[in-house]
Amino acid sequence: MLRRAGPSLRHFLLQRNSSAGHSSSSREAKMSRPLQARRLEGIDKNIWVEFVKLATTYSKVNLGQGFPDFPAPEFLREALMRALSGGNHMLHQYTRAFGHPPLVKVLAQFFEKLLGRELDPMTNVMVTVGAYQALFCCFQALVDEGDEVIIIEPFFDCYEPMVKMAGGTPVFVPLRLNPPKDGKLMSSADWQLDPAELASKFSERTKAIVLNSPNNPLGKVFSRGELGLIAELCVKHDVLCISDEVYEWLVYDGKQHIRIASLQGMWERTVIIGSAGKTFSATGWKVGWVVGPDRLLQHLRTVHQNSVYHCATIAQEAVAQGFQRELMLYGKPESYFVQLPKELQQKRDWLVQSLDGVGMKPIIPEGTYYLVADISPFKSDVPDVPNSDEPYDSRFAKWMVKNKGLAAIPLSAFYSEAHKNNYTNFIRFCFAKEEATLKAASDILQKWKQEKASS
Ligand code: PMP
Repeated sequence: MLRRAGPSLRHFLLQRNSSAGHSSSSREAKMSRPLQARRLEGIDKNIWVEFVKLATTYSKVNLGQGFPDFPAPEFLREALMRALSGGNHMLHQYTRAFGHPPLVKVLAQFFEKLLGRELDPMTNVMVTVGAYQALFCCFQALVDEGDEVIIIEPFFDCYEPMVKMAGGTPVFVPLRLNPPKDGKLMSSADWQLDPAELASKFSERTKAIVLNSPNNPLGKVFSRGELGLIAELCVKHDVLCISDEVYEWLVYDGKQHIRIASLQGMWERTVIIGSAGKTFSATGWKVGWVVGPDRLLQHLRTVHQNSVYHCATIAQEAVAQGFQRELMLYGKPESYFVQLPKELQQKRDWLVQSLDGVGMKPIIPEGTYYLVADISPFKSDVPDVPNSDEPYDSRFAKWMVKNKGLAAIPLSAFYSEAHKNNYTNFIRFCFAKEEATLKAASDILQKWKQEKASS
């Protein structure tokens, strides 16, 4: 029966095509339907693709994209070696979809300490492919068609397209710069939310707010007062909080990173996102996690199960060992989470000094490994093009990498299309770099300044 059904079906289809006059050209016409799904409309262009390519092509010194150029800590590399060459060959196979058991267990123990509440490693923690996939799971699982999601500007660029892909509508609220009047260097704390403006964005359509503290790109560490205001509004309007805390250990000058989930009424409505890439200076490993109540995480697990399934077992094993070490050394001077911010603070201070020295006014970050600097004194070298759609800082950063070999990212890359011209005199530098890299950047800026003075 089957043998007869095959040829007769083919015969039928051939006949139908020829009788309907199907030629090869009409088949091509059919192909001209849009190939991409509608959910990609308007999000298919990404400024990062362009800037990463420019940095690869032209930069002698790359302070653009956010990754360290110094090695990940030895204990972590050793843990990976042990996992790779030790006796447990099962580390080369699939592990539990929602997180390798040793990793979710130690993350639960660690976050119990940080949050002061009991956690179930199986239901309150999930491991993801970097914080990026954690964010993707949050938006896919929690945001529906017609939902609004509040995003604080400037923001880590993927929030906006991810909200849109989930069918939601991003609603932006800006941090506004209130520079000090005493001529002192600016601080990331000078970027503030207007409480009335923030409150005006919440409505019955609001499903979630994205909070990123410490904030990329500014380095702002939200204060207890600011977090309290956000928490109050979340509770009042029954809104979820997607709290991107990938830079949680990178805070300076004795500042404290406060977890919004620890504030009154917030645990039940918050998903905390973290990244081993940032925490252990190993961005290429792409191990991230979410911590939160089961009522939210159960939906993230559905997305994860049906998309990525799980993250490399061996990397999860090594990160678990890294966390075990950190749990043992918690708060002690040998802890990596104590040492890394100390080292980065020195690098921050060094870059602040050298930028200030050439007149590119830095805004001192309270956290993260980024700082934003005012390029105004260098504007004469890169004249504005009137009526251009491209923000000035973007043109400046392109010119700088092509002509000076120094890569940085324009601040406008962290704004929505509608607000990309709000602040166009700033570029972001990443200072998680070897001393030699920072020195090379400083040399470029010094030389540039001298050339300007003598021209
Ligand atoms: N959130 C923020 C604020 C980030 O800056 C980054 C990385 N630059 C991520 C999430 C993504 O982290 P991961 O590399 O772990 O995916």
